[in-house]
Amino acid sequence: MAEAKDAKRYRFDGERVLHLADLDTDGGVSREDRDRIEAETKTLQEKICAMQDRLYADGREGVILILQAIDAAGKDSTVKHVMSGVNPQGVDVYSFKTPNTEELAHDFLWRVNRCIPERGKIAIFNRSYYEDVLVVRLRELNKTYKMPERCTGKKTSEFFDERYADIVNYEKYLFHNGYRVVKIFLNVSKKEQKKRFLERIEVPEKNWKFNAGDLDDRDVWDKYHEIYEMAINHTASAVAPWYVLPADRKWYTRYLVSQILLKTLEDIDPRYPKLDEAARMGLADCRRRLESEGKKKDAEPAK
Ligand code: ADP
Repeated sequence: MAEAKDAKRYRFDGERVLHLADLDTDGGVSREDRDRIEAETKTLQEKICAMQDRLYADGREGVILILQAIDAAGKDSTVKHVMSGVNPQGVDVYSFKTPNTEELAHDFLWRVNRCIPERGKIAIFNRSYYEDVLVVRLRELNKTYKMPERCTGKKTSEFFDERYADIVNYEKYLFHNGYRVVKIFLNVSKKEQKKRFLERIEVPEKNWKFNAGDLDDRDVWDKYHEIYEMAINHTASAVAPWYVLPADRKWYTRYLVSQILLKTLEDIDPRYPKLDEAARMGLADCRRRLESEGKKKDAEPAK
């Protein structure tokens, strides 16, 4: 059995350069490892659940978990997995789709900033402001924006270098305001994506997930991955690290995501609020009142 590799192996925080071609997409695990890994994932989930309760009670820090990937890499099932292990009251999920007219009429962080959770909560972003340096760069959508010449007339590299810098600063801003931003790229192989697309075409219950347009992105696989690589290398930082996770085996990806979320919560180290003296005395009073209820009733003469 393969040793489960630690998520740290896939962490990029600005200390080293990412070369996507050097990273594995299957985690080096095989089918025989599945039961053991799934059991470990369950244990991690239980720990996450306990930590999340503390995070919510503490209310001093918030977590933003960003999921980015090309199609069929497993974003939706990863969201489902994270959600299944936590108290829904403390988690918000947001999906960022093609911006509407109102969103396009604003700066690119506008729609995202409205989804920042209150501290104490976890927000999962299914896609995010990273689309603004990924699909926008791939499809050169920046050239179509209704913005002044000083913005749209820039060289492509200059336009996106500025956006990377804006993102880095925004993530620092969030950190300074009590948030941890954790970014995950689900790194699926071209072969596995093909298999999943074919499944979506062949299995009637999965037909709805298939979109012919997804094949267009597949056609520019190398270019898209180059754009991902650039975006990750420009925005990986100690306060907002990227994890480039192998995504060919969903059960292994889930294990790594659980590890990362638990580690983030452990780093935050949330504590249940401690009551001050006055509040403790208040509680003691309430306890006496509750206890005396029964005694009063017992003391009442029978009618
Ligand atoms: P998903 O693939 O996440 O399940 P959809 O099939 O609805 O959801 O795809 C959402 C689409 O929105 C993707 O093609 C994505 O590239 C696009 N999108 C998200 N954000 C932006 C953006 N800022 N600019 C342009 N397109 C975007």
